[in-house]
Amino acid sequence: MPEVMSETEKLYKSLRENYDSYMESEKRKRQLIELQEARFAKLKLEQERRKSSSASNNGSLNFELSKTEEESLSKKIRSLSSSSLSSAEAQHLSNLPNYPSLPVFDESLETPKLPNNINGNSIESQPAQRTIETIPSVSSIVPLHNSVLAPPTNGTSSIFADIPVVPSLPQKPPIAVPATPILPKKPITTAKKELFHKTVNFTEGGSPLRTIFLPAQLIDRFLLIAKRNTRKKLETCGILCGKLNRNAFFITHLVIPEQDNTPNTCTTKNEEKLFDVIDNLDLFVLGWIHTHPTQSCFLSSVDLHTQNSYQIMLNEAIAIVCSPDDKFTKNLGIFRLTDPPGVPTITNCSLTGFHPHPNDKDLYGECHRQSGDVKSGHVVIKNELPFEVKDLRS
Ligand SMILES: [Zn+2]
Ligand SMILES: [Zn+2]
Repeated sequence: MPEVMSETEKLYKSLRENYDSYMESEKRKRQLIELQEARFAKLKLEQERRKSSSASNNGSLNFELSKTEEESLSKKIRSLSSSSLSSAEAQHLSNLPNYPSLPVFDESLETPKLPNNINGNSIESQPAQRTIETIPSVSSIVPLHNSVLAPPTNGTSSIFADIPVVPSLPQKPPIAVPATPILPKKPITTAKKELFHKTVNFTEGGSPLRTIFLPAQLIDRFLLIAKRNTRKKLETCGILCGKLNRNAFFITHLVIPEQDNTPNTCTTKNEEKLFDVIDNLDLFVLGWIHTHPTQSCFLSSVDLHTQNSYQIMLNEAIAIVCSPDDKFTKNLGIFRLTDPPGVPTITNCSLTGFHPHPNDKDLYGECHRQSGDVKSGHVVIKNELPFEVKDLRS
């Protein structure tokens, strides 16, 4: 009898722990969402102030984040955590093939304009007139779908004033973290018309998907970093971060978080470090990349849930899956959940671990742009785009 009790107690304890950790992760998600909302509110204000500034020919801008707001945002960031990254797989592998196998699409019509530099100087933040507390609290991740707008992020202001009717309002805020504001370096009167990346892709539900420029070399670099794990048949994951510039996202940083790796999962840990980097460099989180050392290239059910949490933060967020083993015909996939049905289905699924989803095939798809067909996807793989690697494991 005591043994039975002890088993029951063990079970209870384990359930309790799972429940606590679930609640903790839900809490962090909510905090992150509030943070995003706050940041977008700031950026919206900045945009409006620039517009009025521009109209009155008043060139200089001087935004300051109040000490309290800054501290409050900073504090929030410290308490954030990202969801764990994992996926299912199990087989063999020992070395890496050449990568990537996707065509590099050279989009002559859309010359990318890069952020001024990738260290964080090209996107300035703006003071929040609303504090986090004034933002309605989000009871679940679903309402995010109906919120907020996208800011301009270059140092000049004329884009929005001069460019006629370019839809640039996404429906969800990016998973970016507010950072200490970097003030515009030159007066807006010097601003001239600059190329604006027109949004040409949309979700299944009609929401705009701004173009993401992905440096082709980033994938090779990630595979090199992952190589040691891959040889041991362990997964590796990285976070794709970048800048929003002239209505397009540029992946400028590959951040390798501290992580626990198994043959079929990769779980981030010590996320504070990760958030510090994102915060300090004023980056948006644009998606994630991970290896399937022993499995083919697809999104597992756990991957779908992970990707959903990214996509809820940012419509455009992507999941890159690398299956380096030559025995797989497909070595690289750049995916997003369909929306609908992918995002609502996964958002409403309360199962954890590996589990089947109905109509699995409809829940996600490839989203890299095929040469010659701008409608085919919002991710443009480009050679020679600069990026940096931040390996937080060392
Ligand atoms: Zn996976
Ligand atoms: Zn599910």
